[in-house]
Amino acid sequence: MRALCWEGAGALAVREVPDPELRNAHDMIVRVRRSMTCGGDLPLLAGRVPEAAAGEVLGHEFLGEVVEVGPGVRRHRLADRVVVGAAVACGACWFCRQGLLACCDNGTGGAAAEPEWGPPAAGCYGRPTRLGGFAGGHAEYVRVPYADVGAYPVPEEVDDDRAVFAADAAPAGWHGVELGGVAPGDVVAVWGAGAVGQLTAGAAVARGAARVIVVDEHDDRLDMVARHTGAEPLHHRSVDVLAELRERSGGRGPDVCVDAAGPPSAPARWPTAGPDGGVALREAVHACRKGGTVVVLGGGTPFVDRFPLGAVTDKGLTVRGGSRAGPDAIPALLDRMARGELVTEHLATHRLPLDRGALGYALFRDRADGCVRTVFTP
Ligand SMILES: [Zn+2]
Ligand SMILES: [Zn+2]
Repeated sequence: MRALCWEGAGALAVREVPDPELRNAHDMIVRVRRSMTCGGDLPLLAGRVPEAAAGEVLGHEFLGEVVEVGPGVRRHRLADRVVVGAAVACGACWFCRQGLLACCDNGTGGAAAEPEWGPPAAGCYGRPTRLGGFAGGHAEYVRVPYADVGAYPVPEEVDDDRAVFAADAAPAGWHGVELGGVAPGDVVAVWGAGAVGQLTAGAAVARGAARVIVVDEHDDRLDMVARHTGAEPLHHRSVDVLAELRERSGGRGPDVCVDAAGPPSAPARWPTAGPDGGVALREAVHACRKGGTVVVLGGGTPFVDRFPLGAVTDKGLTVRGGSRAGPDAIPALLDRMARGELVTEHLATHRLPLDRGALGYALFRDRADGCVRTVFTP
């Protein structure tokens, strides 16, 4: 089959690779209909993840059609249209039983970051095998392990271009708002107007936040925020962000601040980072009201320098984080999509055949031509 492979720093290519096969009773094979870029892929693409090996298949946000099921799969049948969550989780270990699928002990095997971070979290499609990753969705076919846990049927009313956002981007936003405990009347600030930032803002509005403010420096993305999310845009370069956020929150600061800006632009080497990492995070901690909550979203987040820990203790802040989390929210998000309450397809600003994967990622990485997300069709 054809697949978009990582070939080395900054190099992607569509290659012939072996078709995936069922390896365990709970596996299934999905023929991919749509796959999508994500900011969490960028450190890998840039060659900052030394565990990556040439030829590995990228992509952790995809949907497709079931073409083969293992004998242990109960919830899926041939020809079902399914969206697959980014995390690979077993559904049965201690963490999965607590509902912490993204922390699964069995879906992973990648211990590369263990000396610095502790035990590894759940595996992920399109990540290096040495980091516990699985072949990704930028391909004609993909093997889905623990299929009953990680794949969800797509309602007929939801088309592919909308539903592909239910794999990771929409659950990330929804989960971010849940981690923040956003309640009716809250003021919420979100850093980053990419797909996850916009979907976080929309989720905060849906949960009844009184004001939701999205901070970014790209006019085209902020225009989208104003048009589609019900949130207020705030241009990072043209105003004093901290003063403006205080002003818009009764002088206190936002109740919940979400860093959805993605991995820093130029970390030296994952999982450590250069001195420019964590700008949004430091600002979020600074802006957050005393006793408020700061949420950090995103895969590919490295170490950050100069984290203002004193502000966390002095101001009594709660700091929470999540990456490829919230798969349990996928069915509810698909239902919201079916009812037209959650609209995402405008975030797929670019649609390309998989053969043009390198171009699709270049547009996405450079935010060129107004690119928010590129969606590929194999
Ligand atoms: Zn993602
Ligand atoms: Zn598990």
